[in-house]
Amino acid sequence: MRHKDLNIGKRKVSIVGVGYVGSSIAYALTIRNLAREIVLIDIDHKKAEGEALDIQHGIPYMGMSTVYAGDYSDTKDCDLIIITAGRNRRPGESRIDMIQDNSRIIRNVVDSIKPYYTHGVILIVSNPVDLLVSLCDTWLELPRGRVFGTGCILDSSRFVSSVAEYVGLNTEVIKGTIVGEHGDSQIPVWSRLSIAGMPMEEYCGAVNLSWGDKEKEAIAERVRTMGSSIIANKGRTHYGIATCVCLIADAVLNQRLTIASVSSPLNGEYGITGVSMSLPSIIGVNGVEQQIEEKWNFEENRAFIESAHRLKQALEGVK
Ligand code: NAD
Repeated sequence: MRHKDLNIGKRKVSIVGVGYVGSSIAYALTIRNLAREIVLIDIDHKKAEGEALDIQHGIPYMGMSTVYAGDYSDTKDCDLIIITAGRNRRPGESRIDMIQDNSRIIRNVVDSIKPYYTHGVILIVSNPVDLLVSLCDTWLELPRGRVFGTGCILDSSRFVSSVAEYVGLNTEVIKGTIVGEHGDSQIPVWSRLSIAGMPMEEYCGAVNLSWGDKEKEAIAERVRTMGSSIIANKGRTHYGIATCVCLIADAVLNQRLTIASVSSPLNGEYGITGVSMSLPSIIGVNGVEQQIEEKWNFEENRAFIESAHRLKQALEGVK
């Protein structure tokens, strides 16, 4: 008898879209033993079955999850529904360029989930994630924070890695965040970057390491273009985002509240409404429990508002 039949209903996750990203997330969730039940749903049901079997066969050595291919009725009673359906970026394309194709696909996915939805958090991974969060939030009409997107969590992780490499330290001591669009107008919050609690500038001064516009620009450019560089090399990205989703899943499923830069609808933060963007946010069982309005410098505020304009324009084009 499967967990499904026993109706345990705890830490149940659905993943809609079982391509490279969806299957990597399912695999990462099982390795981390974060979910008891993982349902894989894809328009290509045979593929979902194959991925489920492949992942399931390693579980006796790893943990307690049950992984199986299902349909939309299985999203009932899920604590977390992860949407990764849609096409991937082609070399040279921006994420926003995919909005027409992926909004059509995600509308279909959301309409199929709606009749079965009971209580869970909906996490959007498909791109362009910020625009899709805004659309899904409108289509689903759920309480605030229930629909959100991975947004800049992966960019922030790439940012921390790049800074760690520059200062030659372990990533654990670096605290840094990318906010705004998960895309070309993303913003590194330099004014808040710290090393073991010390502002970056002070740390670099103390260890005699140069830190100025040249170093910042090089790191920002590297982080902004990292996704497209990987796509140019191997056609897709999927492992990095899968690990980031585990952090979110842990917060939602195990109530291990965390703060991460994820995308959710803005409601007056920095004077902005009508668009979804990443801000450091408290994530818990209800999804985004609260967005944190940090105090930034003038330049960071200006760049955030510009990023919002860019996304608003793109959203108008879809509506
Ligand atoms: P993929 O082509 O490997 O997988 C997409 C899957 O979606 C396929 O299995 C396809 O059959 C399925 N699908 C298509 N239409 C569907 C529908 N109507 N219902 C159910 N399933 C459907 O692509 P991928 O590499 O897994 O990427 C998926 C998405 O994730 C892309 O939009 C990509 O840009 C995005 N992505 C986001 C991040 C991030 O940081 N947010 C990182 C990497 C990729």
